[in-house]
Amino acid sequence: MRNIELKVRQQEILEIVKAHQPITSENIAKYLNVSRSALRSDLTVLTMSGFLEAKPKVGYFYVKSEERERLSKLIQSTKVGNLMSLPIVIDEKSSVYDGIVAMFLEDVGTLIIVSEGYLVGVVSRKDFLKTAIGGSDINKMPIGMIMTRMPNVVVCQETDSILEAAKKIITHEIDSLPVVVEHCKDGELLYKVVGRFSKTNIAIQFVELGL
Ligand code: ADP
Repeated sequence: MRNIELKVRQQEILEIVKAHQPITSENIAKYLNVSRSALRSDLTVLTMSGFLEAKPKVGYFYVKSEERERLSKLIQSTKVGNLMSLPIVIDEKSSVYDGIVAMFLEDVGTLIIVSEGYLVGVVSRKDFLKTAIGGSDINKMPIGMIMTRMPNVVVCQETDSILEAAKKIITHEIDSLPVVVEHCKDGELLYKVVGRFSKTNIAIQFVELGL
């Protein structure tokens, strides 16, 4: 029953109910700028096929299917530590040239920059391109000069769920997060880098879930 194809209008109704439940048919109609009667048949289909539940005098609720719930639980319980890759780390004093070579050799899109073993920044492809356009001497310039530096680096921990980490990647419009362990040194909070969590890790998990 749940494997039916939904019309665009029905999908729109589901999105509205998910965001505003419980919601009356009158209010759904307002969101869609149509009359209540125009929605009646779609609401009947959605209720009969189990997507929506209608409670009298309360409104419509979205019903999660068992399969969706199973997937959602699986994604929420999978931790960054289960999927992360090895971090590609380079010292902040290394040259921009060395960074570019490391990026090619290691086949990554982001380098993690450390100083005395602790996270100080990240450098991505665009940072290298900006430097190249700027005409600086990439052999002389230290990579620390062009990195996005702490405290602006968005990080995650092994125990974070992959859902939280993926949300950070989307919100900050970046490709990857250093995976860190907190370390207190002389009263200062520092980060040891233990991994890298990227869009590729998410894509791999996505494929596995689909098998
Ligand atoms: P690309 O340069 O390949 O598009 P990103 O979108 O990841 O890669 O990087 C865009 C910008 O965001 C760069 O300036 C980069 O230094 C910065 N950046 C990348 N990863 C992070 C991160 N985890 N936290 C903060 N800034 C980041």
